[in-house]
Amino acid sequence: MPEDAPFVRLEGLTKRFGGFTAVEAVDLEIRRGELFCLLGGSGCGKSTLLRMLAGFETPSAGRILIEGRDIGAVPPHARDTNMMFQSYALFPHMSVERNVGYGLRRAGLPRRETAARVAEMLDLVQMSHLARRRPDSLSGGQRQRVALARALARRPKLLLLDEPLGALDRKLREETQLELVKIQQGLGITFVVVTHDQEEAMILGDRLGIMREGRIVQVGTPHEIYEYPRSRFVADFIGTVNLLDGTIAEDAATHARIACPEAGIDIVVDHAVTGARGAAVAVALRPEKIAISRDPLPHDNRVAGRVADIVYNGNLSVFHVTLDTGRRLRVARANAVRAEDAPLAPGDRVHLGWSGSASVVVAP
Ligand code: ATP
Repeated sequence: MPEDAPFVRLEGLTKRFGGFTAVEAVDLEIRRGELFCLLGGSGCGKSTLLRMLAGFETPSAGRILIEGRDIGAVPPHARDTNMMFQSYALFPHMSVERNVGYGLRRAGLPRRETAARVAEMLDLVQMSHLARRRPDSLSGGQRQRVALARALARRPKLLLLDEPLGALDRKLREETQLELVKIQQGLGITFVVVTHDQEEAMILGDRLGIMREGRIVQVGTPHEIYEYPRSRFVADFIGTVNLLDGTIAEDAATHARIACPEAGIDIVVDHAVTGARGAAVAVALRPEKIAISRDPLPHDNRVAGRVADIVYNGNLSVFHVTLDTGRRLRVARANAVRAEDAPLAPGDRVHLGWSGSASVVVAP
């Protein structure tokens, strides 16, 4: 498991291109041995941040410290970092093993050691049997492994990966995600992975940093980010969520009530909230935390409505329910049995319920 001492520390890191700020005053600590995911939509600045870590972009302001040392003046090849690009950037005229050994040869490592290290890396990514092949005769997944082996060959302390699985199809991506985590954990090298895919970030990351418009808006474990988003943006960005606008009606030490005309009730949450009475807030409620039934439910929070739509996803079904107020809520339910006796159908009158611990109050 990663240690707690910061391995990488970013202080006020900023990058401007002309009048445009791509990365703005980012403060961040990455721990030794962790797999940290930078997650955000297109153009939010995640690649630019990664490129500054690699030394391919010069910060406009701020500092990057690795093990306490400011690496601002250290050129890319002299950093203990390496970068793996989404395009893989393999040399087409070189065999797999020559690709993997490229950086070692350039660094002047003796032949024998180079050969041993290449063999070790190919073994790690299970590509030994294809060592003599050229990249153009490999599948996308195999190329990805070669690129990973090449990036790891020089044993960087920090590996930076820009959309490392972006070129793979869904099924292969899922398999490769787990392999990547296994390799990272086995080597204990710190990985920073850039991705726009929130599911991938949740699977890969020990911790995630959510980026928006050049800033990191929340850092946490996948569980913290999913269950305790601090803003409407993060709640909405990660997974599916029902966001209900309201105002604080009561704020006690152990619970709060949010007046929510959209839902037609005061929503009870089992935690205190920050803000004065009457302050505008939003309640974030995940679809899988809402119970749905034809009969009234015993939960702290109860509303009723009519099923408008049912989306069948195989493993779960998503019910779109129009409340009596007119507001729609999404409710997800696992399809635990193959066939129900009396399945819900569009038009059915239903009761929804959720407990005080199910929702989280975020800034509006
Ligand atoms: P994507 O997932 O689409 O690659 P990203 O989050 O990685 O997005 P960046 O590539 O970091 O985004 O770019 C952030 C912003 O900075 C974008 O608006 C981009 O157009 C701008 N930008 C990046 N590099 C340059 C550059 N060399 N000159 C000018 N603008 C740039």
